[in-house]
Amino acid sequence: EEELNHLRNKHHIHANGTDVPPPLASFQELQDTYGVSEVILRNVLAQGYAEPTGIQRQAVPLMLQGRDTMACAPTGSGKTAAFIVPVLHDLSQLMGEENGEENRGPRALILVPTRELAKQSQREFRKLSKGLGLKICVVEKEQTMAKKCQQQFDILVTTPNRLIYMLKNELPLVTVSNLRWLVVDECDKMFEAGKQGFRDQLGTIYQACSNPNLRRALFSATFAQDVEEWCKLNLDNVVQVHIGAKNT
Ligand code: ADP
Ligand code: MG
Repeated sequence: EEELNHLRNKHHIHANGTDVPPPLASFQELQDTYGVSEVILRNVLAQGYAEPTGIQRQAVPLMLQGRDTMACAPTGSGKTAAFIVPVLHDLSQLMGEENGEENRGPRALILVPTRELAKQSQREFRKLSKGLGLKICVVEKEQTMAKKCQQQFDILVTTPNRLIYMLKNELPLVTVSNLRWLVVDECDKMFEAGKQGFRDQLGTIYQACSNPNLRRALFSATFAQDVEEWCKLNLDNVVQVHIGAKNT
């Protein structure tokens, strides 16, 4: 218990919710405690990530346990890998079980505010998923959407606008009913940008994600009341993680 508090204090981890798992003491724990594959662990270490960052220490175990998570940590604190690792672990465990299913759609959806960020996240996904055989798709241009969407892929990284376009197309260009993960990155920015606009979009997307086992994780750099309210209304037994002081 004391050790646990020491780790949380040392890394300024505040966690709010029920049955919060202990923060990771090291990346090795991914394998030892959570059964994350050697491949994923190796990919993480190959990035030169020696120690998990604060947000990684707490958000990764939560997501590995399938908990709905609202995570708040400063820019540059490694939030991308914090959601990629648990998503990759979950999806890699599914592989093999579901070969041959057609048009099942992606298993993880990552919503980001800009296309640049989508490309960046895809790059990190590719690095951390090396050797797993998962396919990651970023939809860039409308003309290529239909073509891309006919291919099977496991992870879709997109802006809300693109996704809404794909969902509302006469022939829906993507199926989100089999999603296991909905991750919203930089959600504080998206709630800010076109306040009601993004709320509506997220509502539409959320409704289309009909898998009762859908897990959700929202990441942001700043604490936003809007995001907190949305999480409390829409998520199950959500755990809030903040790194640093709550209002900075
Ligand atoms: P954020 O989304 O919180 O702004 P990023 O995920 O973009 O942060 O990560 C910022 C930088 O930190 C990236 O260059 C990333 O490769 C690096 N990084 C991520 N995790 C670690 C880690 N555990 N140790 C060292 N560097 C890391
Ligand atoms: Mg980020």
